[in-house]
Amino acid sequence: MIKVKYDIGIVGAGVAGLSTALHTCSKIDGSIIIVDKGRIGDPRKTSPFTFPDIIERYGLGDSVLQRYKRFTYRSPTGVSATFEYEEPAFVTLNYEKACRNMLDRIRKEGNVDVLENVEVRSFKFNKSFIQTKNLTLTLSDSDNITIHVLVDASGKSFLAARKLGLKLPPLYSHSYGELLGGCEVEDPHEMCILAGKKYGNGGGWFYPIDERTSRFGFATVTRTSDFPMGVVKQNFVKAREEFYPYYRMIKNARTIRPEFGTIPLGPLRKFVHPRILIVGDAAGQATPWYCEGVRPALESGALCAEILCEAYRKKNYSARILKKYQKKWEAINRKIYSKSAKMGFWSWFRSQEEWDKAVKEVASLTSEQMLRRVRYNQT
Ligand SMILES: Cc1cc2nc3c(=O)[nH]c(=O)nc-3n(C[C@H](O)[C@H](O)[C@H](O)COP(=O)(O)OP(=O)(O)OC[C@H]3O[C@@H](n4cnc5c(N)ncnc54)[C@H](O)[C@@H]3O)c2cc1C
Repeated sequence: MIKVKYDIGIVGAGVAGLSTALHTCSKIDGSIIIVDKGRIGDPRKTSPFTFPDIIERYGLGDSVLQRYKRFTYRSPTGVSATFEYEEPAFVTLNYEKACRNMLDRIRKEGNVDVLENVEVRSFKFNKSFIQTKNLTLTLSDSDNITIHVLVDASGKSFLAARKLGLKLPPLYSHSYGELLGGCEVEDPHEMCILAGKKYGNGGGWFYPIDERTSRFGFATVTRTSDFPMGVVKQNFVKAREEFYPYYRMIKNARTIRPEFGTIPLGPLRKFVHPRILIVGDAAGQATPWYCEGVRPALESGALCAEILCEAYRKKNYSARILKKYQKKWEAINRKIYSKSAKMGFWSWFRSQEEWDKAVKEVASLTSEQMLRRVRYNQT
């Protein structure tokens, strides 16, 4: 039974919304509702790598599909840089399992209700004489829910940003890949990020899962959020036939499922608005350098939860308290995101020669430096 009033409403049950819920529900007894319009953790919508320490910190060990001790950055012209690690430095993840894992832990706390396959169509502020008292969510199944505070984790739907008329991220990485079976993978512990513009200016990935299974795909970065299915699929098919050495490993492979979607690139200027906190892709928090969105969403969710708990305990949802979420995020991230944003247009729209130069340049880095480059855009 769903109630009509909750303390906290979370829209979107991807990693951002679930991390927020998980880190909130175990610390306060306030009531929480999570609403998702689709299948929670839909595996067709992403193809993610992340890092082993993130898996450990968020208790997602059962969601790891493969661990990698070798990392290669490779361009279609053949230029490449390979890095070796004594311990696994990267992992690829089963997104659905990661989401279900968090959801199971959330449900155990007993103060969270979950609505699947229900869309939040809109929301409105309910005002007392002078200030916003709470919000009402309008749901697609015709019920309304009143909440004290809204966490928008709706990913590229940008529920809050669109309703509030905020400026959306300037760039979008549209990725199309496939989970492939029947491959002949040469090294199942080597993760590859693919550079260059031949198959899409957003680069690509080859993440083996075992000797017979791998994830392979490419991305195109554009200035609009419309998914260019024709272009990205055509690029993928071409890369699958030509990109050495992967075409050799996947020439007899069969498609298990497509994995595709859009990653917004570039954080919103403000993630905090009266009674609203925005997290994950809905806030444009994926890294605009390697388009890594899972770790940022998990970390921002935990940060957002810290502030939500403080606001709930003090029964005070004023901007003074909620803004601490943005302040803490800025202190950790704004500088590196801004540095990357300045390069943004150039780096996605550069020539193949410039891509190759970048691959040659990272070849001189140590393995640890390369890890920091991928994660924090620094050496
Ligand atoms: C093909 C591909 C490959 C990728 N590879 C990587 C990678 O290698 N590493 C990495 O870190 N990241 C990768 N990403 C990015 C990463 O998947 C995302 O950044 C991350 O999943 C964002 O999580 P989120 O919770 O913010 O959003 P999402 O996972 O998109 O969750 C948003 C949720 O909100 C729900 N929703 C939206 N609107 C509403 C509404 N109005 N009402 C109710 N529910 C709503 C949606 O159904 C969805 O479940 C990749 C993405 C794609 C598409």
